[in-house]
Amino acid sequence: MEKLKQIYEGKAKRLYETDDPDLLIQEFKDDATAFDATKRGTIVNKGIINNKLSEKLFILLTDKGIPTHFVKRLNDREMLVKRVQIVPVEVTIRNIVAGGMAKLLGLEEGIVLKDAVLEYHYKEDKLHDPLINEYHIKALKIATDKELDTIKKYSFMVNEALKAFFNSKGLTLVDFKLEFGRNKNKIILADEISPDTCRLWDKETNEKLDKDRFRRDLGGVEEAYQEVLRRVLE
Ligand code: 5GP
Repeated sequence: MEKLKQIYEGKAKRLYETDDPDLLIQEFKDDATAFDATKRGTIVNKGIINNKLSEKLFILLTDKGIPTHFVKRLNDREMLVKRVQIVPVEVTIRNIVAGGMAKLLGLEEGIVLKDAVLEYHYKEDKLHDPLINEYHIKALKIATDKELDTIKKYSFMVNEALKAFFNSKGLTLVDFKLEFGRNKNKIILADEISPDTCRLWDKETNEKLDKDRFRRDLGGVEEAYQEVLRRVLE
């Protein structure tokens, strides 16, 4: 597989074309940003860890019947993925109150929700990824009714699969963010699944083992990412 032109650089990843028009190389960087990139830093080896974690989790989800853009891991920092047109909506699923939901509704972090909450955020950093609902998505033709039904169905399937998997590794899945794309007119899961995009707490101590350590200057950021990888791969 030949690596050709870079077509995209985001906050944590780069995308390159390959000699196959349907396939891209997704490269994971160590760069970390928070609060709409007003806070910037580096998490040593984050790119390697997130690449390996995403590989493991995409394979798990594929086995559960959720189509993803993952094809195969190429090396420490790169995976081969299917080309998609990203739906500009971030889907958040929450099992426990934290972060944005605690702030929005003035709630204590750590409240266990009776049912999982699904949120849509319009993917636009300039607007701080505003919270939107299904009516916005349909009225603005961001996705069709059928696509949205698929996105919702897959998102809850991802939650069930990841909650059970992380629980078996001594981790509580608090919340996470997903991005979907269109590939050959089908909705598939894209982006990454990692401690950058999931809140993960130690099941026994509730210690934070995710990007909140970076966002909130809690220290031990690299160690937390390493610990998640160690547990997930054991
Ligand atoms: P919150 O809305 O509480 O900030 O985030 C909810 C969950 O989605 C957290 O696990 C968080 O890491 C993830 N998330 C939400 N927005 C983004 C984003 O723009 N980038 C990344 N990497 N994760 C996000």
